[in-house]
Amino acid sequence: MVNQETDNYKGVIVCPFCGAKTFVEFGAHGRASTQCRCKKYLVFDYDQMVAIPSKPKRGLSMRFRTTE
Ligand SMILES: [Zn+2]
Repeated sequence: MVNQETDNYKGVIVCPFCGAKTFVEFGAHGRASTQCRCKKYLVFDYDQMVAIPSKPKRGLSMRFRTTE
């Protein structure tokens, strides 16, 4: 069955790194941070309908301690 109810979507936000498309539903607003399938951190701005590259805070995510 192919029944994509595209009318229910406000639009598409495209990842600036890998081009992955994320459908945004109507009513979505504000911002939300997410991690794309390409492992890049993004901030979705649902008002502007853009994806803003976001870097995790340094020193936190790149180091994995096993002694805690
Ligand atoms: Zn991506």
